[in-house]
Amino acid sequence: MKAHHVAIIGGGVAGLAAGVRLASQGVRVSLFDARDALGGCCSTSMLDGYRFNNGALFVAVPRLLDHAFARLGIDRASALPMHRLDTPQASVLPDGTLVVLGDSQRVRIEGPQGDARTSTLLGEIERCVRKWRPLLQVFTDDLLTQPLSLRHLLAKTWRHLPKLRGSLADELRRNFSDPQARAAMAAVTLYTGLPAEHTPVFQIVGLVSMLEDGLHLPVNGMGAITDVLEATLRRLGGEIRTNAPVARIRVENGRVNGLSLATGEVVVADAVVSTATGMATFLQLIDPALVPSAMRRKAQRAPLSQRTLGIQLGLRNRVLPRAYSVNHVPLMDEQKAFLAPQPGGVRWFNYTVPTLVLPELAPQHGSVVEMFAAVDEALPLDAWTDDFKATVADASIAALGRHEPLDIATTRLVSPRDYAERWHLYQGAIYGLSPAARPNQQFPHTTPIDGLYLAGQTTYPGFGVATSMFSGIFAADALLAR
Ligand SMILES: Cc1cc2nc3c(=O)[nH]c(=O)nc-3n(C[C@H](O)[C@H](O)[C@H](O)COP(=O)(O)OP(=O)(O)OC[C@H]3O[C@@H](n4cnc5c(N)ncnc54)[C@H](O)[C@@H]3O)c2cc1C
Repeated sequence: MKAHHVAIIGGGVAGLAAGVRLASQGVRVSLFDARDALGGCCSTSMLDGYRFNNGALFVAVPRLLDHAFARLGIDRASALPMHRLDTPQASVLPDGTLVVLGDSQRVRIEGPQGDARTSTLLGEIERCVRKWRPLLQVFTDDLLTQPLSLRHLLAKTWRHLPKLRGSLADELRRNFSDPQARAAMAAVTLYTGLPAEHTPVFQIVGLVSMLEDGLHLPVNGMGAITDVLEATLRRLGGEIRTNAPVARIRVENGRVNGLSLATGEVVVADAVVSTATGMATFLQLIDPALVPSAMRRKAQRAPLSQRTLGIQLGLRNRVLPRAYSVNHVPLMDEQKAFLAPQPGGVRWFNYTVPTLVLPELAPQHGSVVEMFAAVDEALPLDAWTDDFKATVADASIAALGRHEPLDIATTRLVSPRDYAERWHLYQGAIYGLSPAARPNQQFPHTTPIDGLYLAGQTTYPGFGVATSMFSGIFAADALLAR
């Protein structure tokens, strides 16, 4: 049966991409988001004249975003201008050595014998990029731009399989002889919440992409991405409702027939695309008696990603670090310490300064600084009272204040509880599923419930802005093909 009216739960990049794809094919679309604005984890909020990210900080692998926009019939370059960060990362090591990463003109080791070590590092980077670029290309131009097919995956990657054994740490040891340089490389993927020895080796393609293509920030911040998608969906006639939390997906005789909103209003639809994570969809939004047991088990056993405390500062002064993202990190084998709470005082931390290239995010001469503090994953969400989050944040801000001048005008703290209650991230897990989750732990786009489709960061190809957009396109295509 052709779907005439599709209801979409969630107006992040996945829900918006699904909406644009469906509406462009003549399907009537109604999109519901619980929040008062769209964009989910790819949006910004204004506070006291400072624009803060509500999740994603930057676009990595820009080619993938271009492909996703092209699939929706939008020319990314004209609709969404972006700044390239040529010096995306600098790492300060325990002995004071500074390792700057970026395009080849900017790579530098500043410390004892810095010039000689820089020239060795440049040669090693070139060899590493040469080794991994072909796989990066397979991922960005092929595998991630199509729904997962094991046969296709094997056909495209079999010749790379010998390289794909082991951890990122093993590969970095093989490629980089200088322990400080290796620590800086390993620090690039710490955003996953995993130390390099637990990070699958293929994540090195993210590092290679950063070295080759840099990181990118859309003009006016990450929310510009979802603004383009929202405007496109509206132009195509999609209905968008904010402040509209969905309480139930209505299922009758094994098939979906619409939604109930928290207000009790019933919306009749031929199909539903849920981007509210696979876990929330099957454990919270459907009558438990009607949830297929395989989906219930998958949701209950889902390996969740890390939680974090977001710390965002609006400064009256300019902060001009050596790179957009600065890490104070231990050597690679000790980086677990960076990912755990540091009760005795914060020594290891990361901060990003988007105003380095986007001064429009702050009032004149001001800056925005964003940090994420490691938290105790075992703490229940209720423990995150305002006092507790201020205490945890103060330790990180004090550490930052030892390295950068801070004239703080405003502070925003986003705790795991806030991510759960206000951002609707399941149990406050920022990426939904762990970055180490296997593809078979992701949720399917087509579910065993007729008319129910899933998209978003807990489905293939997983978390990330461009990848979540693709998941929305894949769910829409599955729906259109039925
Ligand atoms: C702190 C943080 C940092 C990140 N950094 C990066 C980065 O730098 N680069 C990158 O590429 N990616 C990053 N990511 C990941 C990226 O932001 C996400 O993978 C992506 O934005 C997820 O999009 P989505 O549409 O799947 O989900 P979301 O953006 O979470 O959208 C889901 C939407 O559904 C709504 N919703 C949920 N339940 C209901 C309900 N019952 N009724 C109605 N609406 C509901 C929510 O309000 C939300 O708006 C980061 C994420 C976080 C949280």
